[in-house]
Amino acid sequence: MKSNTRPLASVWDWQTKAACRGMKESVFFSPPGERGSRRRRREGGARAVCRACAVKLDCRSFAEASHQRYGVWGGTTEGERRVRE
Ligand code: SF4
Repeated sequence: MKSNTRPLASVWDWQTKAACRGMKESVFFSPPGERGSRRRRREGGARAVCRACAVKLDCRSFAEASHQRYGVWGGTTEGERRVRE
């Protein structure tokens, strides 16, 4: 019998190839009260990491499907994802 469910490990496999593995969360997630140019600089740094990431599209799809509200995922900022919803 054919199944359309995938083993759980394969759903998360893309994360093993993430360019951000081992990096500080603070690169991708804003501290409380962060705004303006400080936020744009941090997001720009995170997006630069994402640009070189082999699993950027998997990451972006995951973030959109699971409605990740915070942080940079797959090269998109939380503000950009909010506009798309
Ligand atoms: S796209 Fe960015 S946030 Fe997603 S796994 Fe790659 S480096 Fe990490």
